[in-house]
Amino acid sequence: MKIGLPKETTNQETRVALTPANISRLMKKPIQVLVEAGAGVAAGYPDQEYVDAGATLITDRAALLRDADIITVVNAKDEQLDELRAHTREGQLVIGMMDPLVQYQTLADAAESGMTAVALELIPRITRAQSMDVLSSMATIAGYKAVIQAAQYAPRLFPMMMTAAGTLKPCRAFVMGVGVAGLQACATAKRLGAVVEAYDIRPAAREQILSVGAKPVELDIEAENTETKGGYATEQSDDFIRRQQQAMANVLAQQDVVITTAAIPGRKAPVLVTKAMVEAMKPGSVIVDLAAETGGNCELTQAGEEVVHNGVTILGPKNIAGTAATHASQMYGTNLENLLKLLLDDQGQLQLDFEDEIVKDTVVSHGGALVNTRLRELAG
Ligand code: NAD
Repeated sequence: MKIGLPKETTNQETRVALTPANISRLMKKPIQVLVEAGAGVAAGYPDQEYVDAGATLITDRAALLRDADIITVVNAKDEQLDELRAHTREGQLVIGMMDPLVQYQTLADAAESGMTAVALELIPRITRAQSMDVLSSMATIAGYKAVIQAAQYAPRLFPMMMTAAGTLKPCRAFVMGVGVAGLQACATAKRLGAVVEAYDIRPAAREQILSVGAKPVELDIEAENTETKGGYATEQSDDFIRRQQQAMANVLAQQDVVITTAAIPGRKAPVLVTKAMVEAMKPGSVIVDLAAETGGNCELTQAGEEVVHNGVTILGPKNIAGTAATHASQMYGTNLENLLKLLLDDQGQLQLDFEDEIVKDTVVSHGGALVNTRLRELAG
């Protein structure tokens, strides 16, 4: 069994799918690992570390894509998916992030090449799969980095300081959407000394907000069916979002930093902060919109850009996890390593047990067809 690790080519990606440490642990099984030269350099993992871990360095990318039985990537989407599709042969397995709830038609077309595609975003939210959950790993990094970026742009410090030149008031930070990223943002802002408030539609988030020392903001409106059985947020009605915006305007006007994280898998992100709400905020305030890539939680967000409106800076970072590529790759690689250990038997042979919930949920295509029930429904 040969596992291939090509260099990422999509969207100036800095992360790498497996680190040398992952490879040396995987090689306890009788497998071979082919690594494209330079694959880990942008993430801080030089070629020599891969060689020391037991991998074979390959300079011919096309040969690696042809020879590997399993191809491990961060991005199996856009041009990189097209390339994989052009090179893969019947039965070859591709594992990576594929944006499956949005790209289901492209994946249905790609299935015809005979590749077996495994989408890491579809790892079920069950205890046994927690160590394979790349969305949680990347969200942890995103929540942390959002606060760091806000601190860099804010014209004020986060902690209260009593100095000979007077007392500096602490920064007020507000986190909207308290899933994995939001909770990490609350904890990071708190550690930096901010006074932190947070809001989520899920009632269960209240306890979690309190657990990291932040204050839950209560709005006098109740959301319905806030999460799916799988633990993901559900889309709220237009009427709810409008009432939420009205109730939120006053809270926002008092903040120095706002971090928004509300995402709905496969859907456009809800607008939580309108242009009028930005105009009521204090000049010098900073909004970091972690939902920028799926439309943005702020009406003025431009993905990948910095927008300044009425003195308020709105950041819409793209691939924010990639700005901490070493740790992001360590977490991603370990999630992937844990999944590979489930898919490979002791002889290093691939065993796809479709009775296993993790396999059933994550395998998108197999044997020339889209096999994932959820995606088949979407593709009609
Ligand atoms: P997410 O990225 O899908 O969404 C971010 C947050 O935005 C969610 O908490 C959601 O409730 C919130 N949101 C959506 N619409 C909103 C709105 N209109 N206003 C305010 N907030 C809104 O969330 P996530 O990080 O995937 O986490 C969701 C939940 O799943 C959390 O409770 C998390 O702890 C849990 N989780 C469980 C597991 C597991 O059991 N294996 C793994 C990961 C996450």
